[in-house]
Amino acid sequence: MDAKLLLIVIDGVPYRNFRRLFGNLEGWVDSDAARVWKHRSVLPSISAPCYASLHTGVSPAVHECTGNHAVFRLKQADVFSQVRAAGGVTGAVAHSFWSAFFNRAPFDPVRDIEYDEPQSGSINHGRFHTMEGYGLANQMTPSDADLFATLTRLCTRFDLNYGIYHSCTLDSMGHRFFHDCQEMDDACAKMDQMLAPYIIKWRAAGYEVIVTADHGQDARGHHGGRDPLQQETALYYFGEADGPDPDTVIDQLQLAPTILSRLGAPIAATMQAPVFLT
Ligand SMILES: [Zn+2]
Repeated sequence: MDAKLLLIVIDGVPYRNFRRLFGNLEGWVDSDAARVWKHRSVLPSISAPCYASLHTGVSPAVHECTGNHAVFRLKQADVFSQVRAAGGVTGAVAHSFWSAFFNRAPFDPVRDIEYDEPQSGSINHGRFHTMEGYGLANQMTPSDADLFATLTRLCTRFDLNYGIYHSCTLDSMGHRFFHDCQEMDDACAKMDQMLAPYIIKWRAAGYEVIVTADHGQDARGHHGGRDPLQQETALYYFGEADGPDPDTVIDQLQLAPTILSRLGAPIAATMQAPVFLT
């Protein structure tokens, strides 16, 4: 496999926060270096079911993850397994749910906090965090600057074909402070400025890059239902492919088959949604 792609999932960013507060991403849209669409999550618009759907291309009604309490090794094929089947190298810097869903469960912190497993049929190079102890007054989230550096290190050391990034910083900020406040303005601006230099590095290293979220959040920081603020986020794409019209809404189930298509890996029979980048 020659193609390379990184999927950057910034947890819990509503469409309006991406478009109003991420100045570097929006500047690249203006300069035609990136394209942006609205991206609608599956229902429920809860983190764990959304991660599972993002990476398997099937709905929660099919994969049966119904909430953050229901984390288990999924049965369906996913992006990692399909990239491995095509000979690609995979990596992940993410919350531990991603390891449990797509590699092995339950998550054992000593065994699974970091691993390098070249023969794996799933995640070859994983670096995970649990947020154990998370609560309203204590986010327990690592710095995104550290995590972006870790992903970049994996790319350079192991020549990843596919890597995923995921962190809950902004989701936690939204639950804690809501959205019409200085704290959230500042947190989004800092995230944009931490991310931007790495997008330049990743593009220079030959990666296509997708930046999106798993779901949005409403004015009270809630998500889970059908409210557009809860369900809708943005999706930015950096790469050479053609995409749909600007007003198209990307369905979350389209992510997995589209990523595999970009990488030249086989799309699993269970991934029925149409590819949106050609
Ligand atoms: Zn989430």
